[in-house]
Amino acid sequence: MDYQKILDSIYEEMSYRDVTGKVASYIPELAKIDPKKFGMHLYCGQKQHYGFGDSEENFSVQSITKVFTLAMTMNIMGEDLWKRVDVEPSGNPFNSLTQLEQESGIPRNPFINAGALVISDILVDHLDNPKEDLLNFVRKITRDDDIHYDPTIAASEKSTGYRNIALANYMKALGNIKCDVDPILDFYFHQCSLAMSCKDLAKAFMIFANKGSILETGENVLKPEIVKRINALMQTCGFYDEAGEFSFEVGLPGKSGVGGGIVAIHPENYSVAVWSPILNPKGNSELGMKALERLTTLTGVSVF
Ligand code: GLN
Repeated sequence: MDYQKILDSIYEEMSYRDVTGKVASYIPELAKIDPKKFGMHLYCGQKQHYGFGDSEENFSVQSITKVFTLAMTMNIMGEDLWKRVDVEPSGNPFNSLTQLEQESGIPRNPFINAGALVISDILVDHLDNPKEDLLNFVRKITRDDDIHYDPTIAASEKSTGYRNIALANYMKALGNIKCDVDPILDFYFHQCSLAMSCKDLAKAFMIFANKGSILETGENVLKPEIVKRINALMQTCGFYDEAGEFSFEVGLPGKSGVGGGIVAIHPENYSVAVWSPILNPKGNSELGMKALERLTTLTGVSVF
């Protein structure tokens, strides 16, 4: 498969001018991003990787990090995690509070903010230095020690993080948060501020395409049965109330973030990341979804 040719044709065919959404503005720092940014990178082997545009420029990966924190938590707790977080699509926006009361503070899945905050609680509870450990995990699977948090984004997020603060407090009241809310929120805001490029993300996500093993070293960091669970959750819940649409259009397990990034994988085949900051009304990259739809259509390869 000539992936570079396919990516080049996607780059030629698509432009930010074709989309009508807006860059995220509820986190003030994110509103400053140039809406014209557009990059894509695909890994299918150690030395086989292809990209275009701004694929090597760092951006705020936001909720994409929820996949890394889920992986770390499953390594710590295994299947016991599902006593604290469910595995069902929510059909609601990522920051919704509405389902928590009738569901006794158990979030619908680990990828909505409520679920990610319970995961943060578990990591803060179990680890001495959760922020450092997350960074080390991501650096290890990406084989890049320069990956870092963006302190300006973390601070900006904290300054307007009212819904996340409300979610953490509400779940504390309902008995599904153990630690103090402040360190949980500090960890959560930092995890969202992780700065990575499409190239970094595609490389990191190869562990989910490769049964939990790092491409270059062959070291296994996640058991295949954990990878199976995570990929299933990306397929069913990775795009909030647009998970059905993403499956329908693209047909791959994936995860989005409000920084405009999307990563998707084809098990045992490839991992691909795309970045365009203009979001559709559901908070997912509008051009990113279109580009991935073209990729699976042009290659004829999806999980369906
Ligand atoms: N930091 C964002 C928030 O908590 C993450 C949401 C997202 O990327 N969907 O609101």
